[in-house]
Amino acid sequence: MKAIRRFTVRTVLPEPLRPLEELVLNLRWSWHHETLDLFRDVDPALWEAVGRDPVRLLGEVAPERLARLAADRRFLRRLHDTAEDLREYLTAPRWYQARGAAPACVAYFSPEYGIAAALPQYSGGLGILAGDHLKAASDLGVPIIAVGLLYRHGYFSQSLSPDGWQLERYPPLDPNGLPLTLLREPDGTPVRVRVGLPKDRELRAQVWLARVGRVPQLLLDSDVEDNDPEAREVTDRLYGGGGDHRLLQEMLLGIGGVRAIRAYCRITGHAEPEVFHTNEGHAGFLGLERIRELVTGHGLGFGEALEAARAGTVFTTHTPVPAGIDRFPRELVARYFGGANEDPDVPVEHVLALGAEDYPGGDRTVFNMAVMGMRLAQRVNGVSALHGRVSREMFGGLWGGFDTAEVPIGSVTNGVHAGTWVAREVFDLAAREVPSVVESSRGWEGVLEVEGGEIWRVRRLLRERLVVDARRRLREAWRRRGASEAELSWTEDALDPDVLTIGFARRVPSYKRLTLMMRDERRLRALLLDPDRPVQIVIAGKAHPADEGGKRLIQDIVRFAGDEEVRHRIVFLPDYDMALGRLLVQGCDVWMNNPLRPLEACGTSGMKAALNGGLNLSILDGWWEEWYDGRNGWAIPSADGLASPERRDELEAAALHGLIEDQVAVAFYDRDAAGLPRRWLEMVRHTIATLGPKVLASRMVRDYVEGYYGPAAASARAMAADGFAGARGLAAWKRRVREAWPRVAVEHVEGSGEESPQVGARLAVRVVVDLGALDPGDVAVEVAYGRVDDTDALVEPSYLELEAAGPAGDGRVRYAGEVPLARSGAFGYGVRVVPSHPALPVRAELGLVALPPAPEGMTNGDLR
Ligand SMILES: *Cc1c(COP(=O)(O)O)cnc(C)c1O
Repeated sequence: MKAIRRFTVRTVLPEPLRPLEELVLNLRWSWHHETLDLFRDVDPALWEAVGRDPVRLLGEVAPERLARLAADRRFLRRLHDTAEDLREYLTAPRWYQARGAAPACVAYFSPEYGIAAALPQYSGGLGILAGDHLKAASDLGVPIIAVGLLYRHGYFSQSLSPDGWQLERYPPLDPNGLPLTLLREPDGTPVRVRVGLPKDRELRAQVWLARVGRVPQLLLDSDVEDNDPEAREVTDRLYGGGGDHRLLQEMLLGIGGVRAIRAYCRITGHAEPEVFHTNEGHAGFLGLERIRELVTGHGLGFGEALEAARAGTVFTTHTPVPAGIDRFPRELVARYFGGANEDPDVPVEHVLALGAEDYPGGDRTVFNMAVMGMRLAQRVNGVSALHGRVSREMFGGLWGGFDTAEVPIGSVTNGVHAGTWVAREVFDLAAREVPSVVESSRGWEGVLEVEGGEIWRVRRLLRERLVVDARRRLREAWRRRGASEAELSWTEDALDPDVLTIGFARRVPSYKRLTLMMRDERRLRALLLDPDRPVQIVIAGKAHPADEGGKRLIQDIVRFAGDEEVRHRIVFLPDYDMALGRLLVQGCDVWMNNPLRPLEACGTSGMKAALNGGLNLSILDGWWEEWYDGRNGWAIPSADGLASPERRDELEAAALHGLIEDQVAVAFYDRDAAGLPRRWLEMVRHTIATLGPKVLASRMVRDYVEGYYGPAAASARAMAADGFAGARGLAAWKRRVREAWPRVAVEHVEGSGEESPQVGARLAVRVVVDLGALDPGDVAVEVAYGRVDDTDALVEPSYLELEAAGPAGDGRVRYAGEVPLARSGAFGYGVRVVPSHPALPVRAELGLVALPPAPEGMTNGDLR
């Protein structure tokens, strides 16, 4: 008989073992080796049997075993020390506490989080990144509250059909069997978050609290009995369903998320967030809820509330792939935010305007969550330097009159959390040989002195662990596909712990080109079977459930890897998740990545490999374009200028094979008398010493604190001071400037010293501007100057603000200044008027600019 309900009965621990519960309920265990050791020693066999899930461990451990432990003095001493260590970790001042004027709290919103394999609430890079962000923030003492959804079926787990087709299973999760507690009111009743829906319906959610080290994480869960059946399903699975379902998830995440934070702060006395970080467009509705709060609670107008909210909001965009940008039919959003469900304080036409693609090339029928995210955030960033540039191109339409370089989208390159991804053996080696790196992330150059034999011993060990685990996974996968034991004896010596091992694991959208390596199957075979320098490849990846094309790619790989001739050298391991990811990035010698440049916004798995002493072999995209230096791995040449995708794949695949044959395999198998690959180890040391400090999530979080959270908090405070006088003033000013702008004009430009200029001379520029109804204090008149290209466009110009030099009659104003001619060669300049306000961090904010009509013979650069 099938059970109609399932739930988890929690163990009652004997009194002396109570601190175990405290340890289990803080996810710090997921990156803390001593805590994991302690859990293992509760019952080593059971620990493995429950997949190293401490909640299940405590749920299933025999009472006799617990009684024995409760009397075991040595175990109790360790338990006590470990619990004490956690308390110290949670309360001692850390990096952030030494900073002044930092925000008291930052709210971080993300639709998915990859914290631990036991919490399958992530689909790929975005979630893993969010998890690593929280963990690094915790390590640094950054006061973040995280908000997400609790998906009852998480993301799917993957298996294969007999003919290699991806099958999806959504195992149900019981929150009571996870390291979560329910957020309750002081009187004990569970907190209810409510979001209004059309037709007088309401979406309700309870709130689960996870603890990620110092970071409280609030997860909203709509599976509550007081919801109607449809509403109960809203948080059923990650990115499930389309249209309405997804919109409801995002309303709950954004609007409900802000309400959950308010409840949490009210109940616990935690400081209210000063900064809100929107991790990708999915969470963007949080801005609407904050506007509503300000209108309802402080009597601001919509435009004033918008200024107050956006000053303290940071938006991070994560993909240049159009399919990755969240867009809804405009009328769907109108239906949910309008009609009887319209909040009079948040008029639906304002909502629609925020997400409208009302720029050239935009689609007027859609509501774009990324566009709304950017309009609701004063600070926006991409996730690598290249992705920043691509995003400025992609979203430049929102800042109409400005050059791409001035589009206010910056970048913070992603990073990875060392404690989560670095193998323990690597940590131990580092702690022995270069302790300053482990203790304080300093002295990375010390890695260059570590003895090659020691590094090679650890690398061999990790490779072997991967091989052993891969064989087990392979057998398991074939059994599921219906193979008999007798057919599986080959798996016992599939892969070889001494063969050059290349890892290739990723989600399977088409731009990641899972099957690029198979374009020339004969050549691939030859690589794998080379008698002197063989290569083995371990592959993993999930296709989105609706992506038939991706599933076909997986099937192609699986078919190839099933061939008797090569199956010991190339394997596909199903169900890529954090546990498999960790195994791969630790055990592989080479991490391969061949996306279609520039569609990989950053990529992080290669960073994890680098920290473990793996070398990257990748297209120059995302982070690799930024930090590849010619000695830390290999760059696959990209043919991204090519019009034919076929031809491009062909060229890039050929280059990939060539690199592996001529360079990667040669270096790996080039051994000295002691059997060590000297040159290879040189590259490994160089990789860790130079990339180590850059690829860390702690570097990333510090960049966010210094470049985004801190300035956003300052802006938000300026807007909120004196009863929101700043926000009121800025909103009124923007309205006035927008109205007056059509009349602003540059009437006259005159430069002296243009005839035979020499380096070191100065160019005197005089300008007359008609400001119409505006005052000189409302604008900046600027000269853009510098090198010009063949089309007279200014290349990376510098800007000089001219001084107002008196009235010129009829509301006109004279401006003057001197431009230094600091370098020889082709030089040009242009003049523009832009709105200027002390509360605005960048000139481009309003997208308004006035230019002179370019007169004959004058170089006016590329200024539009
Ligand atoms: C690191 C990681 C990712 C993201 O890696 P990319 O380099 O962006 O492909 C995805 N899934 C898992 C399980 C990971 O560990």
